[in-house]
Amino acid sequence: MNNAVLKVSNLKTYFFTGRGTVKAVDGVDFELRRGECLCLVGESGCGKTVTALSILRLFDSPPGKIVDGRVSYDGLDLVKCPSKRLRQIRGKDIAMVFQEAQSALNPVFTIGDQITEQIKLHIPVGYARAKDRAITLLSEVGIPSAESVMSYNPHQLSGGMKQRVLIAMGLSCDPKILIADEPTTAVDVTIKAQILDIFRELKTSRQMSTIFITHDLAVVAEIGDRAVVMYGGKDVETAPVSEIIGNAKHPYTSGLIACLPDIAKSTGRLTSIPGATPNPLEMPQGCAFHPRCPKAMEVCSQQEPTETTISKEHKVNCHLYT
Ligand code: SF4
Repeated sequence: MNNAVLKVSNLKTYFFTGRGTVKAVDGVDFELRRGECLCLVGESGCGKTVTALSILRLFDSPPGKIVDGRVSYDGLDLVKCPSKRLRQIRGKDIAMVFQEAQSALNPVFTIGDQITEQIKLHIPVGYARAKDRAITLLSEVGIPSAESVMSYNPHQLSGGMKQRVLIAMGLSCDPKILIADEPTTAVDVTIKAQILDIFRELKTSRQMSTIFITHDLAVVAEIGDRAVVMYGGKDVETAPVSEIIGNAKHPYTSGLIACLPDIAKSTGRLTSIPGATPNPLEMPQGCAFHPRCPKAMEVCSQQEPTETTISKEHKVNCHLYT
């Protein structure tokens, strides 16, 4: 796997519902390299979160099931490894910071209890050492008076503070990989900037590999090394962030870039990609983006595009390049 610490190959996660089969993730490929921040980007419903949950098999089964593919980590295939082994990896080797800090924290336990429990679950330490470690982690993510905050319940903290607590919990066992699911979505712009600073700082200080999920290409530009653009449960373009922003090939990526606010040229209106993400129960034939694509050709509604290599680091799935 070269420099890769995690490799996702042809991953397919389907949900078998009473109304039909939802192909939430339908053939995703990417690798996460040592020390990098890899962004999964796309609109809501494109399969980013289910991809992340599938890495750790953290979805309800049934109705969900990984029907194909591999997640290679440390000589293991996480799709097939025994549940007991996977539970040891979750939180310790690979940790996840969930979106919606409000619902991810248990309202009836103190912040201190929730972090120390997480530490003691994976590291053989007593309460006193776990508590010291929790205070250090809270300080590391910029929580002032960390010792006092240990005795708070979640409702006593602001949204931004709760998000920091979740990041501290994610870091509690020194994971090799951190998966952060939209950690800047439910916070205001000031807190968002502070949270991005925390991730930048962690990348430098811990050399950690991060999968950062976001719908916001501006966030990708600020924090990412490489990006995987997702649409309709598939990866449609993968490249270093500078290439994604400056030399996007896929019309969907170009559409996302066009939606970025440009203060210099601002007319007071924000642009959006026409149409909506497809109903996952009625995915269009061929390229799933064709009903919204300004460059769609006849072949696009008939045949699914395969991967084209633009350069060693830049891949795209689009008929324009085949
Ligand atoms: S394959 Fe066709 S419809 Fe899909 S993005 Fe490319 S040009 Fe557009």
